[in-house]
Amino acid sequence: MRQPYIAGNWKMYKTVPEAVSLAGALASALASERGTKVMIAPPFTALHAVRDALKGSRILLGAQNACAELEGAHTGEISLRMLRDAGVTVVILGHSERRHVYGESDTLVNRKVRCAVAEKFEVILCVGETLEERQSGVTEKVVETQMRAGLAAITEPELAQVTIAYEPVWAIGTGKNATPQDANAVHAFIRGLAGSMYNAAAARALTILYGGSVKPENIRDLMAMENVDGALVGGASLKAETFLPVVKYDR
Ligand code: PEP
Repeated sequence: MRQPYIAGNWKMYKTVPEAVSLAGALASALASERGTKVMIAPPFTALHAVRDALKGSRILLGAQNACAELEGAHTGEISLRMLRDAGVTVVILGHSERRHVYGESDTLVNRKVRCAVAEKFEVILCVGETLEERQSGVTEKVVETQMRAGLAAITEPELAQVTIAYEPVWAIGTGKNATPQDANAVHAFIRGLAGSMYNAAAARALTILYGGSVKPENIRDLMAMENVDGALVGGASLKAETFLPVVKYDR
């Protein structure tokens, strides 16, 4: 059985005091949480402080991006070793804002995935189509390209370190979410693809999150879908009042 997984992407929001206050509130409200795996990804500047605020909690600390190199002359980048030093165990890679706003290619995303897997991080690899691509009927083709390229050279045992987040670009931060059935159909396609890239057992074990305007009002219907194992949450992860009901969707 795949464990439900709710991850919060704080993007470029929150000063250190704001981040510590939210992390502390989540840690106490989720102190007895057992069933659902929970991760939060604050901005880099708040990682150390949030690690301290999460001490003793089961909430995992994530990063929103990482460099494909471990050290060197890479002005403005953050390495996986620096992230480990800050207590990070999960890294989000290939987020649509990285791909579409900052021009990250499938090749670069794959270099990051390989580096993170080799460094023993858990990876959330984001895939998803733009509105134009959906309207042209190429959603599966786009997702397949991103999956095959993003996971190139990742072996079957290494796939256990990878979670896929299906995030249709048109649904991120727009208030428009895919219907649970639309999300489930793409998730089923991703699982089938993982079956052909690896094998049936690896595909069954693969956790696939949905991302795109997830909120307390729609999480329950999404989680009712067979192939939706959790959510990568942006806007609604910025406040305890909206993130906690998403985490506790089953209560
Ligand atoms: C995201 O940042 O990955 C995301 C899905 O954002 P939002 O929930 O705000 O659409």
